[in-house]
Amino acid sequence: MKVTEHIANAKGRTQFSFEILPPLKGENIQSIFDSIDPLMEFKPPFIDVTYHREEYVYKELENGLLQKKVVRKRPGTVGICAAIQNKYQVDAIPHILCGGFTREDTENFLIDLDFLGIDNVMALRGDAVKTETYFTPEKEGHNYANELVQQIESLNRGEYLDEEIQNQANTDFCIGVAGYPEKHIEAPNMDSDIHFLKKKLKNGASYIVTQMFFDNKKYFNFVDKCRSEGITAPIIPGLKPISTKKQLNMIPHRFNTELPEELIREVLKCGDNKQIREVGIEWCIRQSKELVDAGVPFLHYYSMGKSDNIRAIAKQLF
Ligand code: FAD
Repeated sequence: MKVTEHIANAKGRTQFSFEILPPLKGENIQSIFDSIDPLMEFKPPFIDVTYHREEYVYKELENGLLQKKVVRKRPGTVGICAAIQNKYQVDAIPHILCGGFTREDTENFLIDLDFLGIDNVMALRGDAVKTETYFTPEKEGHNYANELVQQIESLNRGEYLDEEIQNQANTDFCIGVAGYPEKHIEAPNMDSDIHFLKKKLKNGASYIVTQMFFDNKKYFNFVDKCRSEGITAPIIPGLKPISTKKQLNMIPHRFNTELPEELIREVLKCGDNKQIREVGIEWCIRQSKELVDAGVPFLHYYSMGKSDNIRAIAKQLF
């Protein structure tokens, strides 16, 4: 079922959902099931599965020269989605990127998803590969997520890349896109970022999931700004409980997200990561309760493969 239908069916009730990462190559899918199992009692209508593009690694050869190798450390997005739908009978939402995909790769990926009975996709640009400063698309790929949304929407109308197979079987994906309450790191300002967010919606996206935030005011201001710009799509808040001291520096750097002073103070008082986990849970429960009171359609948690803290939070809310 489409995310928009799940929202309509809930008639204003806030629902629980979460995002998982495919395991590192070499690990078993059981590790994924082990992280999902404890969360199923909260009845998530859907589970998102991230996509991880290729990375370049350099291997030193015997002659001292470096050999560049392309590796994907976390493959398996599509397989995990199929396994989730099969095992739990809930919707799995694969993330799909511009980065690393030609238009042809994208089309073939979407055909696989359609054949597997997947109804939703989360369309993203992706970041630059780790060894590069700026995002570079594939030669035949997309520069921005709004172009990717346009391709998905074309396939929804039965328009394939090969003009000889036009007006054939169409897909019917509900498309989600990313939104940034504190603006995307590369956007020159919030107005510009919202301008391009509107383009993703105009091209066919139906709902927005936000980047993580730790101060609900940022989310509420973002929603107000989107609404004043004419955006009517559901805006699902993305939440992550802090769990380590290292994240105080990593999160702002990687996600362009500010941490409130009070949260930083609480984390710094902790003697170890176990205590920090408790602080993160408490903070996230407070955030979640306020968001439920504001009538958000979903609370969407970034589980990062660890479910104990998400479970502790969900127990207080669902
Ligand atoms: P876009 O919407 O393309 O925007 C990128 C930047 O370009 C923005 O600054 C925007 O303002 C600007 N822009 C957009 N269109 C134009 C244009 N036409 N001209 C000029 N500027 C433009 N990454 C992964 O690798 N895998 C994942 O599974 C994944 N899941 C995510 C899930 C969520 C909910 C979120 C919020 C992020 C996720 N990301 C993931 C990270 C995401 O790929 C990065 O944040 C990426 O840098 C931007 O992706 P986007 O889809 O928002 O890009």
